Order: sequence, then C-alpha cells, then structure tokens
Amino acid sequence: MQFKTKILLIYTGGTIGMKKDFETGALKAFNFSKLLQKIPELKQLDCEIETLTFENPIDSSNMNPEKWVEIAEIIENNYANFDGFVVLHGSDTMSYSASALSFMLENLTKPIIFTGSQLPIGDLRTDAKENLITAIQIAALRQNDEAVIQEVCLYFEYKLYRGNRTTKINAENFNAFDSPNYPALITSGVHFKINHELFWTKTEVGDLKIHKNFDTRVAIVKMFPGISQAVLKAIFEIPTLKGVVLETYGAGNAPTEDWFISLLKDAITSGLQIVNVTQCDAGSVSMGQYETSTSMKEIGVISGKDSTTEAAITKLMFLLGQNTAPNNFKTLFETSLRGEIS
Ligand code: ASP
Repeated sequence: MQFKTKILLIYTGGTIGMKKDFETGALKAFNFSKLLQKIPELKQLDCEIETLTFENPIDSSNMNPEKWVEIAEIIENNYANFDGFVVLHGSDTMSYSASALSFMLENLTKPIIFTGSQLPIGDLRTDAKENLITAIQIAALRQNDEAVIQEVCLYFEYKLYRGNRTTKINAENFNAFDSPNYPALITSGVHFKINHELFWTKTEVGDLKIHKNFDTRVAIVKMFPGISQAVLKAIFEIPTLKGVVLETYGAGNAPTEDWFISLLKDAITSGLQIVNVTQCDAGSVSMGQYETSTSMKEIGVISGKDSTTEAAITKLMFLLGQNTAPNNFKTLFETSLRGEIS
C-alpha cells in the first residue's frame, strides 16, 4: 500500500483566517479549523492534511520570540509524524518569523513553508486559496524518497522564496513579498519551475536541533541625514543593550564625523555588537569600498553583507541567545548559517 504524504498545517493567525467584526468593521482572527472544512479543493490534493491552530490566533503584529518558540515546538513535537509543515501566518511580520525559524531549526530535512494572504480566505477575491493550496503542494513535493524542499521558505503569489531572504514590500498588492538578493527557489505557473541549484545545501547532516533562546536586548537604528549625536548616544548607551542593527546608506556608508565613529568605537569596546546593513532594497554592504565606511571597518563593525534587516535582527537575537563567544561573534555573524547571506 502506498502511503500518502502527510502535511501539518499550523495556523498562527493573520488575514488568511480572519473575519470582519461587524461591530467595529476591523478584521479579527477566528477559528481556522472550521473554515478548512469549507475548502473542498483541499480534498483533491494527493496528501493527508492535519491542522493545528494557536490557542489564540494573532495578528502577526503581535508576533514575538515566545511565539516563535511555540511554532518551533509544534514542529518539534510533530516532526517525526509529518513530511512537511505549512505555517499560516500574517504577512506583516512573516519575513521576521521565517528568518527566526530558519536559525532555530538546525539540520532540517523537511519543508517548512510560511504563507498567508492579503485577503481573508472567505473573501470572494481572495488570494488565500492559491497561496494555501500551492504551499501545501510544494511542501508535499518528494524525490528519491525525500522532501524536495529541506529549508524554511515563504510562498506568496506564485513564488517560493528562501524565508530568510524575504521582505514585505507591499501592503496592497497580492504580490506582497520580494527576495531582492536571492532568486525564487520555485516559480509556480502552469508547471512548477524548480530551481534545484538554488536550494540550501547543508554542510553537515545530523539530527534536527531546535534552538529556543533569543536575546531581545537589541535595536534597529536607521540612519538619516541629520540624525543627532544626542539621539544616537542615548541609544548606544542603553546599559542593557547587547546588539544593534545599523541601517546605513548604499554599500554600508555612514557619516565620517569624529563623534559618530567614537560613539560606535566606545560601544564596541564595551561589548556591543553592531551590524551594518544597507537601507537599500537590494545590494550588499561592502565596508572599505568608500571612505565613508572605512573607519567602521577598522573599529570592528560587523558586516551584514547582503542580508535583509529581518534576517540580521533575528540572527543577532539568535546568536546573542546562544551565548556566542564575543571573540567569535563577528566571524559567525558574517558566515552564512542558513543561506541568509551570499
Ligand atoms: N495584519 C495582518 C497580519 O500580519 C496582515 C496579513 O495577514 O496579511 O497578521
């Protein structure tokens, strides 16, 4: 007898399963498992689907590291019994969660596909059905008795991306995500166009390991012309602060003024990890390319290279949470752990 591929659908919340509150007119999460019974298309899929929902589904603006652990534990507890996992999640912070889960789950050999939608699944013009059905189909893809996808991905509007390469770019269009520095792994048209050569290749194979500690004593600071010494000093001197993602200009450039460089230098000397990422939608930090980044390189600012801000901040919380040795921190951060940097 041929066994069917088993997929676990984890509903965390988000528009996909929301309904209008007729009193306020606002969208609110509601019981998703009931709604699934109303999607007859799912029965046509050649796989077995089970669902699990968060006890209290959330709008993803309320997502946080404790809830990432909740998702990871659902995967951990069901890992042996399912061939793939589809995580239904609000689009607003989906890229952060997909990045975080990519770092948490080491030695993955099964697909974890995040998806959601811009319109609720009950809406006439919804994008939810396509996203959900195709995400399940991709999670169920198998070749030579193993899963085709063995990493954390995000599926939205005909494209499967590596999750930690994505960013939400549009609050209106169905095409809500982009992966500016890494091509789509799969494009869904009449057929799937599967770009095997782009898949994450693990250097080591071992049992699944789940890392559950994140250190939230971090901040994202976006540079802008006119940012004041007083504001930056107040942030960099927060006594509990352990790490900062600094969004700089272009290829990782920032002011060359003495006060700015000495502020960063003092912070680094006192143990703060500072990661340089670009504010540009695409491209990479390349410290030393311009005079406006040379000093940052010299004082030990970490290069986020071409990582998204979402990947950089979750990686920072992750590595701080692992108690990474300070003398190894920069090297480890600048290394691709799950394909998040080129
Ligand atoms: N506010 C919603 C959320 O992120 C938006 C969505 O699901 O697309 O939960």
